[in-house]
Amino acid sequence: MKIGILALQGAFAEHGKMLDKLNAEHFEIRNRMDLDKGFDGLIIPGGESTVMGKLLRDLDMYDNLKDKVKNGLPVFGTCAGLLLLAGEVCGEPALGFRTMDIMVKRNAYGRQLGSFYAEEEFSGIGKIPMTFIRAPYISHISENVECLARVDGKIVAARQGRQLVTAFHPELSDDLRVHEYFLTMMRGYHNKDLFS
Ligand code: GLN
Repeated sequence: MKIGILALQGAFAEHGKMLDKLNAEHFEIRNRMDLDKGFDGLIIPGGESTVMGKLLRDLDMYDNLKDKVKNGLPVFGTCAGLLLLAGEVCGEPALGFRTMDIMVKRNAYGRQLGSFYAEEEFSGIGKIPMTFIRAPYISHISENVECLARVDGKIVAARQGRQLVTAFHPELSDDLRVHEYFLTMMRGYHNKDLFS
């Protein structure tokens, strides 16, 4: 199993370090040609969703990658990555793939609380550290989306089929469990595909 980490902008290197610790094979997706290398999962990192959305189009990667996600490539989006998967962004156009039935509020915690740390329950994992940096939260989910974690009542992690998103940055902690969750999720689908 090989994971492609979108490496156009933002905190992609940190995801690579987490996957190294989990002995998971990975490579960085930097251009259109990298999309042909073959991979079983995709990580969209934190950064600036507007910049990443523009770069995906400028580098002619948007349609190809969106098709892959729509066709069931397992994907894990953190923070800006979450924004790039959201079907709707409150008050502004959604610039990403819009493959998840969630509505998201961008820069939702305002200037003062733009960055903060919390420890909360993540469904099926337990209490985990959560680092938020000018983070969004999920204001609405459809019934086919599972809420995985909340902070102060707001949804900060969710899953829809093969798509996993967190508003926080698990790659900025030493806790490997969310990445492990993604690997387990990938393996589940991988095996189902093999045996169905
Ligand atoms: N505020 C950024 C955005 O709107 C996301 C921040 C992050 O990824 N840490 O895209």
